[in-house]
Amino acid sequence: MEKQNLDWANIGFGYRKTDYRYVSNYKNGAWDEGALTTEDTITLTECACVFQYAQTCFEGLKAYTTENGHIVAFRPDLNADRMENTAKRLEMPAFPKERFVEAVTQVVAANASFVPPYGSGASLYVRPFLFGTDAVLGVKPSTEFQFRVFTSPVGPYFQGGARPITIRVSDFDRAAPHGTGHIKAGLNYAMSLHAIVDAHNQGFDENLYLDAATRTYVEETGGANFIFVTKDNTVVTPKSDSILPSITRRSLLYVAEHYLGLKTEERPVPFTEVNDFAECGLCGTAAVVSPVGKIVDHGREICLPSGMEKMGPITQKLYDTLTGIQMGHIEAPEGWIHVIK
Ligand SMILES: *Cc1c(COP(=O)(O)O)cnc(C)c1O
Repeated sequence: MEKQNLDWANIGFGYRKTDYRYVSNYKNGAWDEGALTTEDTITLTECACVFQYAQTCFEGLKAYTTENGHIVAFRPDLNADRMENTAKRLEMPAFPKERFVEAVTQVVAANASFVPPYGSGASLYVRPFLFGTDAVLGVKPSTEFQFRVFTSPVGPYFQGGARPITIRVSDFDRAAPHGTGHIKAGLNYAMSLHAIVDAHNQGFDENLYLDAATRTYVEETGGANFIFVTKDNTVVTPKSDSILPSITRRSLLYVAEHYLGLKTEERPVPFTEVNDFAECGLCGTAAVVSPVGKIVDHGREICLPSGMEKMGPITQKLYDTLTGIQMGHIEAPEGWIHVIK
């Protein structure tokens, strides 16, 4: 198969249209059989629930080429599970798990020419999403829905090495107790847009959100979970009902324990404890781990001992091991690598 003629290392992170997307519609209580299509636009009534009441959710994962030339996706079954949880909380019908994985498989295979070659550092980002399509004026859930999966090639997240970032403690909250922080709902992102623009305007890369109820515990950023490393090399991640369960973070904790023999803890992390950590990283599909060099709390700077030049040593090991597993250099735990073709 001929690859697209793209400058893979420099394609960046924007949306690039590919040839195919997968679409299935839900009506009269059932999903239709679904199909690939080349049609990239959607026409809906102006009163669709997605427009009026933001009844929409999404997932994000990557497909890429391994060292031995296979196109694979990383743990897509967990994205299916997570979207099922999200859909329930938003009164939407879940797209069945096996069909979710099959849809991802089909759409990636159909766009194989857009899957970047091994070694380019680039990947094919896969975006499944689900939204309410029929007209609702009074506040109530849709009765008709669309599930869709599109793809877009994206460049390497770190160009010229991972540069540690500076984040600030936000005065905005991300997620209320007993709210929607634990699901991947579009609404969580709509309300974070102002906070991220404001952070960028003030010269910060990201927001660190504290728990909304007490403002004393670390939660996460707008789109990534935290891992911290203590001075005696324990990997710590915050536990809270309002954190989105990152698949990358769960995978990194498994790697820490089972591949690197490190102690791990998932527990509430008081913000005051951040002073004592040796390393800090943000985990998500896009970057795997993005090192944090500095956390600024209303003018007070907390500088992580790992510094502003490179990842801390444990973060680097975690990153190297997980990306090694993804790329096929290191044997993967059963079921982590879904072979597409
Ligand atoms: C998607 C997301 C993450 C990262 O999850 P991954 O499954 O690792 O990509 C973390 N936090 C939030 C708020 C997210 O929406």
